[in-house]
Amino acid sequence: MCCSQMRYGGLFAVLIGVGAALGSSFANSSTTVEEYKSGIVWPEPPVVDPGDGTHAPSDAIALFDGTDMSAFNGGDKWVIQDGFAEVHGGGVSTKESFGSCQLHVEFATPAEVKGNGQGRGNSGIYLMGRYEVQLLDSYDNETYFDGQCASIYKQQPPMVNACRQPGEWQSYDIIFEAPEFAEDGTVTKPAYVTVLHNGILVHHHFELLGDTAWDSPPSYKKHEARLPIHIQDHGNPVRFRNIWIRENVQPLVGTPPAE
Ligand code: MG
Repeated sequence: MCCSQMRYGGLFAVLIGVGAALGSSFANSSTTVEEYKSGIVWPEPPVVDPGDGTHAPSDAIALFDGTDMSAFNGGDKWVIQDGFAEVHGGGVSTKESFGSCQLHVEFATPAEVKGNGQGRGNSGIYLMGRYEVQLLDSYDNETYFDGQCASIYKQQPPMVNACRQPGEWQSYDIIFEAPEFAEDGTVTKPAYVTVLHNGILVHHHFELLGDTAWDSPPSYKKHEARLPIHIQDHGNPVRFRNIWIRENVQPLVGTPPAE
C-alpha cells in the first residue's frame, strides 16, 4: 500500500465511523419519516416518440420534411433539392397560424461567402410574423451585436456566438410564449422567448419589448392570438431543412386533493 492509499483508506474508515454514528442516531429516533405526496391527481403525460434527430417528434407538425414547402405561402418559389429548401423569390409564411409553440429549424448560410455585415447569410425567423430571431452568417463576420445571428433583432444579442462555419448545418430550437392583450390593446402579458442555437442556450425566457422592426423602436400592437410564422428572404440563398413545430407547450393541470 502506498502512502496515498493509506491516507484515503484512513479517510474512508473515518467516514464509515461517521455514517455508523449517524445511522445509530436515526435508529434511536422516535420520529417516523413518511413519503411526501401532494395529493394532486395528475393526468398521465402523453407518450411522444422524440424522433431520431432528423425527423419531427410524433406530436409535432412537420412544416418542411425535405420534400415540399406546401405548408408555406410562397413556398413554391423556393428551390428544393437534396432534402433542403433554399430561399428564392421572396419570404414564406406558414398557411397555418400559431401562438405559443416550440419551433425547430435547421439552416445553413451560403458556403460561398459573399457580402459582409447584415448582407451575409441573412434571413430570419419571425414568430407571429413580427418577432424576429435573426438568422445571419456571424462566423467571423462583424455586425451590430443585437443584429448578429440568434439575436432578438434590435433588442438583445445572444448570450454567446454559437455559429458554425458557412455551409454547415445549424439549428434553432425556439420556445415562444405569445403575448396577450386586453380589449383596448394594453399588453396584459408580454411575449417571452427561449432560444437554443446549435443546442446552446442563447436566450432564456427573454421578455420581448415588442415587435422587431428595422426602422423603429420595439412596440406592441394588439394582434390575433395566432398568426403565421414567417421566414425572411433578405436576398441571400440560405438553406433550410427539417422544420417542425409543437403546440403542446402548456404545463399539465392536475386536480387538487379534496379538502
Ligand atoms: Mg434577418
